[in-house]
Amino acid sequence: MKKYYLITPGPTPVPHRVAARSAEPILHHRTKEFGEIFKAVQDGMKYVIKTKQDVMMLAGSGTSAMEAAVVNTLSPGDHVIVGSMGSFGERFIKICEAFGVHVNAIREEWGTPVNPAKIEDALKKDPSVKAVLIQHTDTSSTTLNDVKAVADIVSKTSAILIVDSVSGLGGEELHMDDWEIDVLVTGCQKGLMTAPGIAMVAMSDKAWAHHKNAKCPRFSVDFSIIRAAIKDNETPWTPPVTLFLSLSEAIKMVREEGIENTWARHKKLSAAARAAVQALGFQLLSSRPANVLTGAILPAGFDGTLLLRKMLDEHGVSIAGGQEHLKGKIFRIAHMGYMNAFDLMIGFGALEKTLTDMGYKLPEPGKAIKLAQSAL
Ligand SMILES: *Cc1c(COP(=O)(O)O)cnc(C)c1O
Repeated sequence: MKKYYLITPGPTPVPHRVAARSAEPILHHRTKEFGEIFKAVQDGMKYVIKTKQDVMMLAGSGTSAMEAAVVNTLSPGDHVIVGSMGSFGERFIKICEAFGVHVNAIREEWGTPVNPAKIEDALKKDPSVKAVLIQHTDTSSTTLNDVKAVADIVSKTSAILIVDSVSGLGGEELHMDDWEIDVLVTGCQKGLMTAPGIAMVAMSDKAWAHHKNAKCPRFSVDFSIIRAAIKDNETPWTPPVTLFLSLSEAIKMVREEGIENTWARHKKLSAAARAAVQALGFQLLSSRPANVLTGAILPAGFDGTLLLRKMLDEHGVSIAGGQEHLKGKIFRIAHMGYMNAFDLMIGFGALEKTLTDMGYKLPEPGKAIKLAQSAL
């Protein structure tokens, strides 16, 4: 028998009580019963994001929310700045370019955060810039941006700040309104412990003013239409009704823990994971590591793809590898959402065993597992 352990940065494990809600009979979406669930999710998301604004909810993955944020606030020919430090920053660039938006890409090495001073310079050089787009955490590079520092700069200009917090939400401190984030993009399948399928966007008053003049083509994701339905506790089109039930339960769990405690749990797990990675003899991928996952650089010549395949095939433990130029060269272990120290102990236990089986000499066998245990 093989037991399966999901220790990846999205999708993430779904608690039983969350999954069970999706097995309930299908509710029609134009009913009082569904309206109550919708309202609970709407209010819950405001609590998690720390905003007073409406939260637009779409059927789709996180990328659809990134695209919806772009088409609802920009016009073809607009100038934007994208601060990119990984594959999701590159995705923002591709989305903007697909709609004829002109991108000034400010790229950092994967593992280095966006430099707020460079954003400030670029804004000064081109005052026509309509938006700055960054990730809260870029999952591919396991790096946390200083969103508040960037927001402090952008909020003093006429540009809006669009932040992708698909993987950051729930695990990293975030105050949308207080930090003056204009567009907050997120999804349900990472820190929010729900099966994939609901994408979400909240916008500041400043972003809503931009929306009025935004000419990118759009229909089913038009925020004017979606927002108008929110007052009736509805979505304009059929929502993923079962996922709404699940998400309402997941938010209940976040409320029970308290979002500040949720952040603190992720912080504690990340500290243990970073120490454990170093105990394996590996360097951290990031100079400003996220609290939601940890990336490790494998020794030159080590086959990271084989490592992951063996962990999954032989032990049922699923962690993530590297993307693009980092493929086979790194691994990423998640501590995002429904996870605790035992998940880390399993991950590092499987890592120690598989690394040893592959001929790697651990500096101190058992130490990584012990360090993971220290997060208990
Ligand atoms: C997962 C993720 C997304 C969305 O990816 P989907 O596969 O479309 O859900 C966007 N941004 C970041 C930083 C992510 O980690």
